Amino acid sequence: MKITAVHVDVTSEPKAHPVRDAIQLLDRDGVTRVRIETDEGVTGESTTYFGRVASSPAVLAKIVEEQLAPVIVGEDPSLIRGIRERLRELTDYQGSAGLSAYGMSAIDQALWDLLGKSLGVPVWKLLGARWPAIPAYAMVGWLELDVAGLERMSARAMEQGFRGVKMKVGGGPLTEDVRRIKAVRTVIGPDAPLMVDANQAFGYAEALRRGRAYEDLDCRWFEEPLPAGDTDGHVRLAEKLDIPIATGENRYGQAAFRDLLARGGVGVVQPDLRRAGGVTDCLEIGLAAAGFGVPYASHGGGAHIHVLAALPNTIYVESGLLPEGAELVDGCYPLPTAPGLSASW
Ligand SMILES: [Mg+2]
Repeated sequence: MKITAVHVDVTSEPKAHPVRDAIQLLDRDGVTRVRIETDEGVTGESTTYFGRVASSPAVLAKIVEEQLAPVIVGEDPSLIRGIRERLRELTDYQGSAGLSAYGMSAIDQALWDLLGKSLGVPVWKLLGARWPAIPAYAMVGWLELDVAGLERMSARAMEQGFRGVKMKVGGGPLTEDVRRIKAVRTVIGPDAPLMVDANQAFGYAEALRRGRAYEDLDCRWFEEPLPAGDTDGHVRLAEKLDIPIATGENRYGQAAFRDLLARGGVGVVQPDLRRAGGVTDCLEIGLAAAGFGVPYASHGGGAHIHVLAALPNTIYVESGLLPEGAELVDGCYPLPTAPGLSASW
């Protein structure tokens, strides 16, 4: 089988209900769709989502069409890691992070989708699954919500059967975080996991101060306490705090996780499919983390569920509120049954 063409299309619209975290307003629904065609008629697709920057989907489309696609047309689509290496060599000159990584990830996901469809099986079966279903929590605690809104969303998530909830912090002083965390805890009960996410908002001293408070409030993990690239800061913070430090959604490529894992700077590793490099890199990061005894919780859900199904150290898939038609069983998303890289919801 040979790749014959790569098609890309783009949409970019204002988000109907913008959401806010400690560093940004997410006000766009942008999508870049990639479809890879073959001489045997089998196709593979991927969808790359953008929460802000109106022009990003179109810029990514340009990178995929003009830089990456010419390298892969004519290749055997099952040589997924071989294609990845060729694309890395190509993009190294301009930097393989940023939108180069988004592009390589979009192709990686489309190739896995294609491979699954060509064999008639969901991708998790190709990866060798560990789990029949994935425990889910709901990220519902956005900063534009007042306390009443937070309580309402948290209650809805628990009614829908999620194991627990995550909320944003760092939008104001620590006293405000404490007030909001206590309100959510009252709604979800003493035993449900409650995670907090600062989206890289703090410097070291403030992260340490707030981390101690989140620890006292029995939060399950402290996500992105520091700028994502500050490995030293993460290592020092992890030494001082008992609460696990969660990070990874803003790191690019497998190599970016090596020092963080080896030096103990991460307690829950959270790669993002788009930035880390797709199914292939997320799987490799997850297996490396397993070697260090570090649990894996995806940034976002969707196609990531195939990787989560395969990893021995999976603890959670991240979700919003349950989409129409989806259902949790004992707090878990079931694995998708359709061939390829389809999502559970
Ligand atoms: Mg996060």
